[in-house]
Amino acid sequence: MEHHVKEALEELVTALSKARGLGLERLPTKSLQAISKMEEELKRLRDKTHDHGPEPGLSQVTSLEQLEQLLHSCQDCQLSATRKNVVVGEGSKRPLLMLVGEAPGREEDVTGRPFVGKSGELLTKMLRAINLSRSEVYITSVVKCRPPRNRTPHRDEIAACLPYLHKQIELLDPALLLCLGSTAAHALLNTENPLSKLRGRFYSLGKRKVLVTYHPAYLLRFGGSKLLNLKKQAWQDLQMLQREYERLKRQEKP
Ligand code: SF4
Repeated sequence: MEHHVKEALEELVTALSKARGLGLERLPTKSLQAISKMEEELKRLRDKTHDHGPEPGLSQVTSLEQLEQLLHSCQDCQLSATRKNVVVGEGSKRPLLMLVGEAPGREEDVTGRPFVGKSGELLTKMLRAINLSRSEVYITSVVKCRPPRNRTPHRDEIAACLPYLHKQIELLDPALLLCLGSTAAHALLNTENPLSKLRGRFYSLGKRKVLVTYHPAYLLRFGGSKLLNLKKQAWQDLQMLQREYERLKRQEKP
């Protein structure tokens, strides 16, 4: 019975999310409250499925391989309907540093790999500038499936995918996290502050340190003095990151 209720709610919540995406936001307060209740009930049913259903749930995952398997069949949000590939992430399986972007774009969706488009090229250059290669770090994003037309992921999509990111962090156990852009920063640091206010200092996420900087795709939008100014700030962030990375690396040595 609950299975049918869950399916019906999935359809309703997906339809309502699409309606919101189309700008139909000015619904009466009572309707918005009803939608919120439906979303809560759906979350409860999803958690229940994860914990007790026939498929192994997230709480039972103990390895990256299991997590990847779970993600490849994930249908926890509407992005599963339009994706070509789930982009789990790639890089070192024992990274000191993990990079978290926003969501896969068109090329990432086609290839199944994170940051392979133009912003990926810039990210590779940014890493090289601080003597790091892509294979030394782990690169992923907050949501693992491409939002249509590369739009910003919706709140419910981020909420659905965030537990997978937290599990990835737990399994890969990086000491340092770099949030690329405000979506990653807001999701991991649980804040709404603008990126310009968040960058430039380290935050704690349990035992891990988190730094925030601009998403490479954002840097690619500008030219002239605006770009120069953003590049200067991004470079300051990268240097902070490099100092901390090297300090941790020295500590790691026997
Ligand atoms: S974006 Fe995340 S939660 Fe949504 S379907 Fe893809 S893997 Fe699942």
